[in-house]
Amino acid sequence: MMMEKTMRAAVVTQFRQPLEVREVPVPRPGRGQILIRVHACGVCHTDLHAVNGDWPDKPPLPRIPGHEVIGEIVEVGEGVDYLNVGERVGVPWLHWACGTCEQCLSGWETLCTQQQRTGYEVDGGFAEYMVASGHFATKIPVGIDDLTAAPLVCAGLTVYKGLMMTSADPGDWVIISGIGGLGHLAVQYGKAMGFQVIAVDIEDEKLDLASKLGAAMTVNPRNTDPVGYLQRQIGGAHAALVTAVSPPAFGQAVGMMRPGGTVVLNGLPPGDFPLSIYDMVMRAITLRGSIVGTRFDLGRALHLAAQEKIIPTVHTAKLDDINEVLENMQTSSLPGRTVLELG
Ligand code: NAD
Ligand code: ZN
Ligand code: ZN
Repeated sequence: MMMEKTMRAAVVTQFRQPLEVREVPVPRPGRGQILIRVHACGVCHTDLHAVNGDWPDKPPLPRIPGHEVIGEIVEVGEGVDYLNVGERVGVPWLHWACGTCEQCLSGWETLCTQQQRTGYEVDGGFAEYMVASGHFATKIPVGIDDLTAAPLVCAGLTVYKGLMMTSADPGDWVIISGIGGLGHLAVQYGKAMGFQVIAVDIEDEKLDLASKLGAAMTVNPRNTDPVGYLQRQIGGAHAALVTAVSPPAFGQAVGMMRPGGTVVLNGLPPGDFPLSIYDMVMRAITLRGSIVGTRFDLGRALHLAAQEKIIPTVHTAKLDDINEVLENMQTSSLPGRTVLELG
């Protein structure tokens, strides 16, 4: 097969500057790697944090972001004998983990200290082609189309795992704070898990979507004090998953708990939020972070989505639109997820 030598890609060359959409060389798959022709790539708020250099460990530049990739294998590198050209795979945030450290061996490959992250330490899917690790690319079940599958590979996986980490039981009240790309999927996963979902967002449009997707209650902190309201209405919720890109939302989620409640942190806005030690101790609140999910979790999240008809609300865009998409996300994103269509 004749391989093209160059491809179009959206490249971060400087933090807080527009990405450059330009021709770059098509990468070559090394040992254990595969080359993928990208069909679709979701735009996650993490990509915007990467472009802005928001986090303490900034990505090395230049960098091609994008970690909600669905594509087709066009070449397999040496040593890959379990995947074939023509197969459709998803490439998640966890590009590679060592497989031998304590975290990897104990089922926590997402915490591997040697891990490489797609679109962060290595190039991602805002491009016509990309290289992935054969062991970390995941086959996508037939019956989920490319545009539907892309947001599940990060947003869906992350909230599936985050909700599992709340340890909530069917029938429990579970708050989803932030109804963006992650949150609108969390409402659907939460319903599928049997929770009574409470949606919290500062934009009514997002709350309308949450109601359509089955949220039992919605709260907009812009016009209602969410802590007082939830305590009065139901005595606080059993758990919360915070995907909001705003530090005050995290403190509010703690305040919205009933005694013994668990707050899981998914959102990654730069910054801190205050915690009352007395309140945490006296009400025995659990607070825990959660980062994406393992390959095992991804398989579960994809199959649950197929079975329960968990469907992302998708807006499509082209690679050339990437700066406009990120600008919209910075100010006020469209309800749902924007997915780049690459062909
Ligand atoms: P998004 O921009 O699509 O959605 C964010 C939502 O938060 C928006 O609907 C916005 O209106 C809402 N929001 C803003 N301020 C709020 C407030 N004070 N209270 C309630 N809602 C508020 O972003 P996304 O792609 O869903 O990502 C969300 C966050 O999760 C980002 O910080 C991203 O980096 C992070 N993330 C974490 C993981 C992980 O594994 N932990 C994985 C993916 C994304
Ligand atoms: Zn993501
Ligand atoms: Zn490891």
